[in-house]
Amino acid sequence: MPAPTVELVREALAKVNDPEIKRPITDLGMVDDIIVDGASITARILLTVAGCPMKERLTRDVTQAIAAVAPDADISVELGVMTDEQRKTMQTNLRGGQAQKEIPFSQPGSLTKVFAIASGKGGVGKSSVTVNLAMAMANRGLKVGLVDADIYGHSIPDMLGVGDSRPTQVEDMIMPVPVPTPSGTDIRVISIGMLKPRKDQVVAWRGPMLDRALVQMLADVYWGDLDVLLLDLPPGTGDMAISLGQHLANAEVVVVTTPQPAAATVAERAGTMASMLHQRVVGVVENMSYLDTGSETGAGQRLEIFGSGGAQQVAATLSERFGYEVPVLGEIPLDPRLREGGDSGQPIVATHPDTAAAQALQEVADRLTGRSRGLAGMQLGLSPAGR
Ligand code: ADP
Repeated sequence: MPAPTVELVREALAKVNDPEIKRPITDLGMVDDIIVDGASITARILLTVAGCPMKERLTRDVTQAIAAVAPDADISVELGVMTDEQRKTMQTNLRGGQAQKEIPFSQPGSLTKVFAIASGKGGVGKSSVTVNLAMAMANRGLKVGLVDADIYGHSIPDMLGVGDSRPTQVEDMIMPVPVPTPSGTDIRVISIGMLKPRKDQVVAWRGPMLDRALVQMLADVYWGDLDVLLLDLPPGTGDMAISLGQHLANAEVVVVTTPQPAAATVAERAGTMASMLHQRVVGVVENMSYLDTGSETGAGQRLEIFGSGGAQQVAATLSERFGYEVPVLGEIPLDPRLREGGDSGQPIVATHPDTAAAQALQEVADRLTGRSRGLAGMQLGLSPAGR
């Protein structure tokens, strides 16, 4: 192995990504100095902000990267903090040279698929479906961002086990909170709840404030390259849905309902609202479809606790109203493990991938991202709407 040089060490550090921004620290201007003095190597690394929660991981990654090219060296890592000027330069670089903030997902040529998850009313499992879709997409190796815009619930961070995390802020740029997944690809999460000074604070979000919060979550957050962005909308047809329609007309909408006719009727309204805002409704997910009393023994009965046919009703009505097919994307059964997974911050698709609920959610995710086998090969137990 050649004797370590500053150049060699710099090359090694180019392989270290900032844990939050996910770009090489050499590109971000975080490598302030490299000193090679005989067998001792010192790397001086600048954190984006003081008290950066990732500093231990960064120190470890830097040490490992240097040790890979200089195994016998005596390595030390010194941490400093960027000046305001250095942070501004980094921010401009990250925005591709643009000083002005803009929503990357609404730009022509954006390769990110955007799905807004809507429901007519609360409690139908919209947030549970959203976190599981995010996890299912990450399972396929996709880079997934998740915006929790549900002003009433904002339960997404708890459902993903990051309820106490706050995003790191670099100047006016916010780093999404990374959620590790079994596939090794982090889900990047931001929640409207994280924009409040304190978690337990009650905020009466109104139209203009909501609009600002939504734009902040889309434009001020450094999302990096995403394959998919999921947005968990508040239930109903309120101001947030209108703001989303204005800022992200290209978002495709997924409507979540239960089988109950009353739930289905309000879900149709949420779908119609999306269409009025020129968004395409890509399909309907029926949650809490049935309870398989023998899901563990295999000798059970299918109990339709909330009745049946809700999603098919919504899909048929919306298909007729819009003149294009709005399919039922999947039927998710009731499963206590799904609820427990939400409470403990571990989505069922990650912890119990073999359950019927997890498989149905994975199939919905695959259909949305174009990875499914198509309707022909799917066992949804129902026929596509409009036939
Ligand atoms: P919403 O976002 O529509 O208000 P949530 O996702 O918060 O609804 O779900 C409401 C409650 O129902 C949560 O406690 C959740 O764990 C539970 N839940 C949702 N879907 C299921 C399901 N398929 N099986 C069991 N419990 C579920």
